[in-house]
Amino acid sequence: MPGGKGMAADDFAEGLRALLRRLGEDPDRPGLAETPRRVLESLTYLTRGLREDAGTLTEGGLFEEESRDLVLVRDIEFVSLCEHHLLPFFGHAHVGYIPDGRILGLSRIARVVDHFACRPQVQERMTRQIADHLAEVLGPRGLGVQVTAVHLCMVARGVRKQDAQVVSFAWRGSLEDDVRTREEFLRATAKG
Ligand SMILES: [Zn+2]
Repeated sequence: MPGGKGMAADDFAEGLRALLRRLGEDPDRPGLAETPRRVLESLTYLTRGLREDAGTLTEGGLFEEESRDLVLVRDIEFVSLCEHHLLPFFGHAHVGYIPDGRILGLSRIARVVDHFACRPQVQERMTRQIADHLAEVLGPRGLGVQVTAVHLCMVARGVRKQDAQVVSFAWRGSLEDDVRTREEFLRATAKG
């Protein structure tokens, strides 16, 4: 479709200019003139997971390994976008699993977190999607995902709770009912 991308960008610029006018701004003043282009660029970046093939995330990153103890990757930073307000929520994901014959390269775990963070999202779904994807590719004995985040839509608007953090969990396999391993996981993710 010739010029399709340009057309979409123009439509977007017009829409954003209309929004700025609705808010009482003058979209033609110098400081705002390039804002539609910048907003489009930053939203494109924040949603890059949408245009990424999930099948490539762990390709070449799986290894045979006999270890059967909990391995935990802590404090994986992410920035996501609340799908209700298109405002960022951000924080850390902790991913732990008990291998069953194979392990995944540690940087690949961070890529999986990014893939599901970088899109319009809700934290609960993001936590589940990370757990389900890793459970599928790793086939672990057990797996846990904990996500701790600050939501700008809570902090900057509405209830304005600046220190409120949202913590969500997903447990798979043995971690669904093995309290001892879950406690080990939670001790390891606790601050300090
Ligand atoms: Zn929100």
